Amino acid sequence: MAERPGTPLAADAVDDADPAPDSVPRGSVPYLDHHATTPLDERVLEAMAPYLGAEFGNAASTTHAYGWRAEAAVDLAREQLADLLGAAEPREIVFTSGATESNNLAILGLADAAAEPGHVVTVATEHPAVLDPCRELARRGWEVTELPVDYEGRLSLADLEEALRADTRLVSVMAANNEIGILAPIAEIAERCHARGIVFHTDAAQAVGKIPLDVGAQGLDLVSVSGHKLYGPKGVGLLRVRRGGSPRVKLAPRQFGGGHEGGLRSGTLPVPLVVGLARAVEIAEREREAEAARLVGLRDALWHALETELSGRVRWNGPRAAEERLPGNLSVSFEGVDGERLLADLGGLAVSSGSACSSAKPEPSHVLLALGHSPALAKATLRIGFGRGNGPDDVAYAAERILAAVRRQVGGA
Ligand SMILES: *Cc1c(COP(=O)(O)O)cnc(C)c1O
Repeated sequence: MAERPGTPLAADAVDDADPAPDSVPRGSVPYLDHHATTPLDERVLEAMAPYLGAEFGNAASTTHAYGWRAEAAVDLAREQLADLLGAAEPREIVFTSGATESNNLAILGLADAAAEPGHVVTVATEHPAVLDPCRELARRGWEVTELPVDYEGRLSLADLEEALRADTRLVSVMAANNEIGILAPIAEIAERCHARGIVFHTDAAQAVGKIPLDVGAQGLDLVSVSGHKLYGPKGVGLLRVRRGGSPRVKLAPRQFGGGHEGGLRSGTLPVPLVVGLARAVEIAEREREAEAARLVGLRDALWHALETELSGRVRWNGPRAAEERLPGNLSVSFEGVDGERLLADLGGLAVSSGSACSSAKPEPSHVLLALGHSPALAKATLRIGFGRGNGPDDVAYAAERILAAVRRQVGGA
């Protein structure tokens, strides 16, 4: 094999010490919006660098060493990702531009491969990148069930079982919610689907590298992953597509061309991004447990500061139990507070009200409405996402800014 400079995943290159607090760049205002996106980890950038420079080959060029070296880097990344995620074979990893594309390929690709329209089950609190393809299926004559959740965002397994029908082709439930951080019992859901011969898809954009995940052991047939949610580059993701076994997973391509990615997703692979994605998942997995414990500490410290000062006025969204939520996620709603004024008064603190995707629109978050929040309470909500590079100073800063902004509206509280 030709020499591969900057090989991203060589064992000795990743054996470096503990989570590196200086591994992500920092701005002047604390960044507390890690569900929207994360900074590129410098160790990931380092792995990508050769492929942004001298190693510019096309991984599909089979006639010279430039192509071979690019291909070797992609093959290695694919192997490593299959291994890290618990997929049986490297070719089960299909590279995409991100979780949006992966979700579309999973849902619309499965529908396109089906002989006739059927039934799909999803949940009201899913990301728009799942809900919108499902709604597109509804326009094409498919039946779509959007299951409700309880006041903490929990899906009832009994409701799910009741919704499954003889013509249900797909169930899509996200592994971790990007707004309220709740985790779904995806292995249990997959088991119920498989008992009826139904394919299970999970949007794991917020879950990979944050909670334990094993697509094989947990029976996750189709799994969407995004690079930029785990300190990797933007513009890359993957869809894990199970091969063999039952129920059979059959997808039709949504993008046609040179037949890349087993014909499922044509287009020249972005080698630097693919290499970066593998390195990012590798680091996130290796540091997952220690980082999760650290983030829970920061999250709980901020909650404590807010609750102590604003008790009765501040509400915790999502479940309280640590096993049921993302470590770095805090979603809080403020009673009797105007959401738009609250955001304006935060003085640039980098948090969001709902998801990044919905915060451009003035509408309240569909996730918070699904919990039963009034539109006003949904708007008076802050989603805080702690991540690498955050520390206790950021908790203190955020608490001060949030308390000041709330007090501007409700006095001493
Ligand atoms: C960010 C996100 C997406 C979209 O991912 P992109 O890679 O930005 O397309 C989809 N689902 C969830 C849960 C997300 O958090």
